[in-house]
Amino acid sequence: MSTPRGKMVNAFNPDSLSSLPPATRDAIARRARLLGPAYRLFYQDPVQVSRGQGTKLYDRDGNDYLDAYNNVVPLGHCHPRVVEAVTRQMQTLCTHTRYIQDGILDYAESLLPSFGGRIAAAGHMMFTCTGSEANDLAMRIAKHVTGRHGIICTAEAYHGNSDLTASFSPSLGDQSPLGTWVRRVPAPDSYHGDPATLGQRMAEAVTERAWELRRHGDGLAAFIADSLFSSDGIFATPEVLKPVAEAVRAAGGLFVADEVQSGFARSGERFWGFQRHGIDPDIVTMGKPMGNGYPVAGIAIIPEVIAEFGRDTRYFNTFGGNGVAMAAAQATLDTIRDEGVQDNVTRIGALLTEGLRSLAARFEAIGDVRGAGLYLGVEMIRDGAPDAAAAGRIVNDLRARRVLISATGPNANVLKIRPPLVFSEADADRLLSETEAVLRAL
Ligand code: PMP
Repeated sequence: MSTPRGKMVNAFNPDSLSSLPPATRDAIARRARLLGPAYRLFYQDPVQVSRGQGTKLYDRDGNDYLDAYNNVVPLGHCHPRVVEAVTRQMQTLCTHTRYIQDGILDYAESLLPSFGGRIAAAGHMMFTCTGSEANDLAMRIAKHVTGRHGIICTAEAYHGNSDLTASFSPSLGDQSPLGTWVRRVPAPDSYHGDPATLGQRMAEAVTERAWELRRHGDGLAAFIADSLFSSDGIFATPEVLKPVAEAVRAAGGLFVADEVQSGFARSGERFWGFQRHGIDPDIVTMGKPMGNGYPVAGIAIIPEVIAEFGRDTRYFNTFGGNGVAMAAAQATLDTIRDEGVQDNVTRIGALLTEGLRSLAARFEAIGDVRGAGLYLGVEMIRDGAPDAAAAGRIVNDLRARRVLISATGPNANVLKIRPPLVFSEADADRLLSETEAVLRAL
């Protein structure tokens, strides 16, 4: 069952306002007055942050919080190389893509080979400011080239906040309408299903839904999936999407790999999440970690798919691909490569996984530990059933100990751990020892 009425996992519940210190209550009231009712805060005692450095956030009193949640800063908060690159470019020129500039071309040239397959061979890059815009653009192109408009996504996917992307983001809750042209398939749940048949079963579901779309006159334009299925509960069995990609192709649709969460070395093993599945997508969308906090996002695409769109219409995005965005993206990419960040992800990811598995062996409230690299899920259960209350308590108790994680999944019972990629051994030790203390008190 999905989280009811658009309720966000780990959102602050205003019913507990009276238990908070007066200063926090005032800040929350001010926020509500100025920003209105649609925004959500994390934690029952929301954190007031004033600065960040590396893997730490700091509040106004100078207390540090271990950040095991923010994947938008793969190099850690305020990485000096990105700060310097952005500052220098902002002082030089910040303008759009209708002039010839080297920065955007240099960046496309340095990123394209990383995709491998058809994109590396002859693909293109197009730039946006957010992951939502990237997915929106991917779908606009997919609909144009296929002449169809059906979309298949996973059961609890999140792909963005625009009207179109929200229409295939079921995790927004049952009050946020899905498109009538949208069909869902179950995510490859390795905890409840047999990992050996997950891919085949998912491919069969895709074939069935594609047929349904055809019967309704929509046809399949594209299948889209986050390669780590983060809002579905974090599932990381490799190769699962391979038979799915074949089913999508057989139905005449495009395969869109949403790498907003899983891209840029997050999984450790591979630079892109889809590469763990051995597939060659038609379109890859990316965002979040791309500029280490600066808003930059985009798509990589094979030439056959964009040719018609480029001929028949055009693309412009005032801020997408601007000089400062490209400077941030280039500095982020260069630093990931120069500082061996991907190796760190593999090493610390293995250490954290091992530590969490050893906790799972001692605490029966943990049903499963899974994930890849530094994207880990810990499924909380009670008598074999999902235990959202335990997950919520752990997240909030960790926050009280100044360690920041969150929870995810259709039952809100999977701890979501996805720190900056420069998480150190000492950070991992702190996260594990605080988690153990919280589990003991559960
Ligand atoms: N796709 C996925 C998988 C995401 O997790 C998100 C953001 N949480 C988006 C797309 C949308 O990105 P943005 O918030 O930058 O629009």
